[in-house]
Amino acid sequence: MSSTEKYVGDMPFREIADTFEKIELITSRTQMTLYLVNLFKKTPPEIIDRVVYILQGRLWPDWKGLPELGVGEKMLIKAIALATHSRESEVESLYKSLGDLGKAAESLKKKAEERAKKAVSILAFMPAKKELTVNHVYETLTRIALAQGEGSRDIKLKLLAGLLTDASPKEAKYIVRFVEGRLRVGIGDATIMDALAVVYGGGAHARPIIERAYNLRSDLGMIAKMVAEKGIEALKGIKPEVGIPIRPMLAERLSDPKEMLTKAGGKAYVEYKYDGERAQIHKKGDKIWIYSRRLENITHQYPDVVDYARRYIKADEAIVEGEIVVYDPDTGELRPFQELMHRKRKHDIHIAIKEYPVKVFLFDLLYVDGEDYTEKPLPERRAKLKEIIEETDVFQIAEYIETDNPEELEKFFLKAIEEGAEGVMVKALHRNAIYQAGVRGWLWIKYKRDYKSEMTDTVDLVVVGAFYGRGRRGGKFGALLMASYNPEKDVFETVCKVGSGFKDEDLEKLPEMLKPYMLERKHPRVVAKMEPDVWIMPALVAEIIGAELTLSPLHTCCLDVVKSGVGISIRFPRFIRWRPDKGPEDATTSQELLEMYKRQLKKIAVQ
Ligand code: ATP
Repeated sequence: MSSTEKYVGDMPFREIADTFEKIELITSRTQMTLYLVNLFKKTPPEIIDRVVYILQGRLWPDWKGLPELGVGEKMLIKAIALATHSRESEVESLYKSLGDLGKAAESLKKKAEERAKKAVSILAFMPAKKELTVNHVYETLTRIALAQGEGSRDIKLKLLAGLLTDASPKEAKYIVRFVEGRLRVGIGDATIMDALAVVYGGGAHARPIIERAYNLRSDLGMIAKMVAEKGIEALKGIKPEVGIPIRPMLAERLSDPKEMLTKAGGKAYVEYKYDGERAQIHKKGDKIWIYSRRLENITHQYPDVVDYARRYIKADEAIVEGEIVVYDPDTGELRPFQELMHRKRKHDIHIAIKEYPVKVFLFDLLYVDGEDYTEKPLPERRAKLKEIIEETDVFQIAEYIETDNPEELEKFFLKAIEEGAEGVMVKALHRNAIYQAGVRGWLWIKYKRDYKSEMTDTVDLVVVGAFYGRGRRGGKFGALLMASYNPEKDVFETVCKVGSGFKDEDLEKLPEMLKPYMLERKHPRVVAKMEPDVWIMPALVAEIIGAELTLSPLHTCCLDVVKSGVGISIRFPRFIRWRPDKGPEDATTSQELLEMYKRQLKKIAVQ
């Protein structure tokens, strides 16, 4: 009998801990996939969802809006102390010297076990220890998260200490890291999907089917369970479901109107690109959900939008997309993105909605009354959208024209800018112009104002390291190492070190912002040549601008692509603002930077 057979519908948690340990030592994605394949083969289908969530470092998808674990560092230290019969000061000092609470827990567990063994040899009998199982760990962590209100701190502490008491040293290490939200093993969704395709789909050809299902349902655990229990065929028929967010379709970028129209197939819809927050609005009867670009449930932030949706969507069930923008009620003018951020920072939502009223500009329809619209071409989606919306001043369809003329496009673009938009979106309207959930493709092309000059075009980069400053900034962080995302390799590649553009208050806040993400070593998904003073886990995204794109031997973005030994970098980079609405995988890709670099070369050649 294999070690897992005695667990019906369950498996020892040790299997996951062992996999984490192996993966932590490697950087090759192929090898990582193989380890996951082995793990999934051992996993009973009933619990594959739980295993996938644990690999993702969460208990459920964020969009469910369920509580997080709510265990701070102090409580974690207390729990480790209780579980290992140590003093809290002992845990703290070990944490300081090892720089990792997971390792501190592992080491103290080992000591505790040795002590127990000695005691047992005196008593000459060893009580049989029950192994932790995946279900037990998952359910205990769930109970910790769901414990709310009065007395919940004690309940959380008791549950966590109990779990760590039963864990082996290695298991304790990963449970602690999971609770801290820093598994640091670097398994991305892409790798999990690769492994699922091999185990349940018979190979790489099943990968796009899994990816499409994930794009429509945004719940990798649920998709894994479905494919494990019902097979790959079941995934093919998957449709959007009201209440479950769809991963958003994204745009490529260009700066020449003629090229845009050619790429779009000659004729296109050209729409205002509003500078606000993307909202995917779901309606089922009276129930409304609003999801952000990152699929967070932001319904509670927009009671006004909930009210618009209830009143002005004339369908029982629908999923529509639009941009929420602050406007000036006195003039009707649109206000910049920053004002929306001010609104979000206000504590009293009822005051906020009065001070910063919003309008919604709708641009797509994905589902209506039982029918999946994601597979239909854009003109059909738009016609239906018009049909089911009662347009008002605060809830209207995005301003647009249909054109095949570059001059007309340019004119509309200037008008858009003048009216407070960021630029325009050029959208293909041919037969194959479907809604490509989760894909950045050429069916949508963005044209933003800043493309007009050298590099006033901003990029969104991920923080992967930090440097201490000098002079006035001595002792504090003075610069950040920034990276682009490479979706093919699922890694982050460095682009520049940015030290200017920060206001004093930005710098003041840096240590606190970076603290939860500091690492003792480079994150496995970061590719870098430069050594920062502190490595940072890829999580925070900032908008960066610079004078121009250059080639650099210090950076790894598109390394060896343009020229051997050099990558693409930004000259004189400047911090503009944080992009809390973006996750690390939403950053500008290395491929996009390469395209920008090529276009810059073309422009210089013309001049
Ligand atoms: P950016 O950083 O330029 O805002 P992004 O990376 O968030 O872009 P893109 O695909 O590059 O996403 O640009 C599309 C974004 O523009 C959408 O996510 C949406 O928030 C916004 N937007 C504003 N108006 C429109 C519109 N008419 N159609 C589609 N998206 C729009």
